[in-house]
Amino acid sequence: MISLLNDLNPIQQKAVLETEGPLLIFAGAGSGKTRVLTYRIACLIHEKGVSPRNILAVTFTNKAADEMRERVERLLGGSAKGIWISTFHSACARILRQHINHLGFERNFVIYDEEDQERHMKAVMKELDIDFKMFHPRAMQSSIDRLKNEGVTPDQYRPSQFNIFEKRLALVYQRYQEDLHRNNGVDFGDLLLFVTLLFKKNPEVLRSYQNSCQYVMVDEFQDTNLIQYQLIKRLAERHQNICVVGDDDQSIYRWRGAEVGNILNFERDFPGTKVITLEQNYRSTQHILRAANHVVKENRLRKEKILWTKNPEGELLTLYTAEDEADEARFVVRKISEHVHCSFPRNPGNTGRPYRDMAVFYRINAQSRAIEEELVKHQIPYTIVGGMKFYERKEIKDILAYLKLIANPSDGISLKRIINQPPRGIGEKTMERITVFSRESGLPLYEGMKEALKEDWLSPGMRERIGEFILLIEELRQEAKLLTPGQLTLTLLARTGYLERLKEERTDGALSRVENIDELVNVLTELERGEEVEETRPREVFLESFLDKVSLVSDVDLYEDRENRVSLMTLHCAKGLEFPIVLIVGMEEGLLPHYRRGEGMEDLEEERRLCYVGITRAKEKLYLSRAEKRSTFGVGRANLASRFLDELPFELIQVEERKRRREHLFSQETSWFDDFSRSGDETDFTPQENGFSKKEDVTLIPDGFYPLRTGMRVRHPRFGDGRVKSIEGMNEDQKATIVFQMAGPKRLKTRYANLEILE
Ligand code: ATP
Ligand code: MG
Repeated sequence: MISLLNDLNPIQQKAVLETEGPLLIFAGAGSGKTRVLTYRIACLIHEKGVSPRNILAVTFTNKAADEMRERVERLLGGSAKGIWISTFHSACARILRQHINHLGFERNFVIYDEEDQERHMKAVMKELDIDFKMFHPRAMQSSIDRLKNEGVTPDQYRPSQFNIFEKRLALVYQRYQEDLHRNNGVDFGDLLLFVTLLFKKNPEVLRSYQNSCQYVMVDEFQDTNLIQYQLIKRLAERHQNICVVGDDDQSIYRWRGAEVGNILNFERDFPGTKVITLEQNYRSTQHILRAANHVVKENRLRKEKILWTKNPEGELLTLYTAEDEADEARFVVRKISEHVHCSFPRNPGNTGRPYRDMAVFYRINAQSRAIEEELVKHQIPYTIVGGMKFYERKEIKDILAYLKLIANPSDGISLKRIINQPPRGIGEKTMERITVFSRESGLPLYEGMKEALKEDWLSPGMRERIGEFILLIEELRQEAKLLTPGQLTLTLLARTGYLERLKEERTDGALSRVENIDELVNVLTELERGEEVEETRPREVFLESFLDKVSLVSDVDLYEDRENRVSLMTLHCAKGLEFPIVLIVGMEEGLLPHYRRGEGMEDLEEERRLCYVGITRAKEKLYLSRAEKRSTFGVGRANLASRFLDELPFELIQVEERKRRREHLFSQETSWFDDFSRSGDETDFTPQENGFSKKEDVTLIPDGFYPLRTGMRVRHPRFGDGRVKSIEGMNEDQKATIVFQMAGPKRLKTRYANLEILE
């Protein structure tokens, strides 16, 4: 343990060793807050002999939770099995899986994601005959989310009699919850609300958790909302060993109900709280840190903090004013290439940086398009954090809906989704009738469907089709008891003919959907391998826990940082992360600060904090750029420089001159990019390999013949150029893992991949 503590400064050590009683660690960006939490967990287990099962650590994303677990394991030199490191939502899902029966739900409940919620909301509003134009379903949804975050149930909600929206909201909220209940489903907001209700209703359940949660820790505490805070407060009530870590300057989720006030309330709610502030930043150069401090000190609603660093002064910040978004994108690509190809003028001897060291941040998702186009053009590998949304793709959602229905036959929303996927000739009209029939009989949709078979308003043909569908689901439910989720998915794909149907289409889109489904089966199989499969554990439980995981993956969780690619993400997604080189684009009034923010000072201050979060992610070099003109919806608009740029000290900024049009890099006549291309590089995919786009001898693979070899260069119609890494199987079943320059590694069935061989 001594050696462990050696990795920390004396104040961090104090924060690690102060394990008893309430503790608030309040500190600026990059001062080691997350590091302290990790060491604290290791110290509790290793030094104080605390059982891992008595520790609960809450982080903001599943990715952060996984990372923390890995680090603790590394520190302990062994397994950290049993420590409960989790997000709020995952922790609540786990509690509800055990005890939701107290609230009248079945333990096999499903968790609906945003798209399911919206679909459900629309159905409810339609039933209540509420006009979408007058009351937008999303507005209703977000109001309900807000009520849930405040812990208000439909029964407790008191609308103002003079407010039509609120009066409608009360009706919708009531009906929305009733319908979810009938589907044995919950939404994200319910996870927290229901645990709160559960603890109120069943003090003995609460007590058991209070007993086991001897040590509670919360990272990114500034972004907890009221209901999350109350939950954590209750859990820590008995032992009072609660340590929260936060930075008011990084509170960026006020719009989701996060309460910076929780930090201030903490000291009041936990008398005797010790407060530790960390002041040394280990992440950034002096210049970057000074810039960040200058911006954030303009905020009035904040606690003054000192943040300094012993790190070198570092490079000045570079500011580029682009002509338009395309020019801005060229700037981004130019800088990335300079770093990769070690031509960085002020860094002689630098050996060049891997792509993974660089990140581009923007305020809104739509900004990524221009940058992506430029990256693709220059064959620079990148990943969009928050843009992949694998689990939101149609085919994946269809298959998951089957799995959800198998796990929970009351799930009418999933049932409606797949009843005609693939088409079975059961039309919308029939489904509407069955829905009304089920509601009137007080049955979940699936049960109602079974009952409807006895009714004569169904034609014999329809009865047969529905009968077949029910038989299919019943058979799959039986299979689910014996098979792993991966095997079950393969079975359902075969029995439903889902895959066959896609393959028959033979279009590019359909084939890429087949590949995605293939990827889902891979994910399931990988998860099965990673999971500790206890022999006694029923297969259904395994399926439910997988579905929970999928429902709770957030955008950031899909971020794979081990690959060597540039990361693109919104500023919100960047929280907690760090990169040696950061480029923040769109430093314009209207974008950062964003024009959709409210007019109030508090809204502006939140935008400034977002800017602060962005700046403080950078370790060594920070680029800021803005475009004088930017088109929105096809219309060009002139934008003023962001006020946050004015808040930066002049002497920290170095302005990058704009190239005259004729001299634009990468244009036909330019040579420097080509020079790099020829100069050679050890990175896997250098632009030097992108000679593909020039004249090449191309062989199209003839049908039924797959002469692939490892190491071969190939081109895919959608993924572009890549190299064959490995090959499995033969002939029709042959699969190849190909590492594409742009799209990364993919495992494809050669038969369908439509590959060209580039000799
Ligand atoms: P944020 O506010 O962005 O969440 P943080 O306060 O959680 O930041 P960490 O991410 O824990 O900060 O630490 C920032 C960086 O500084 C990390 O790379 C971490 O490993 C490093 N670091 C923190 N403390 C020390 C230390 N005592 N010695 C060396 N490196 C440190
Ligand atoms: Mg942190």
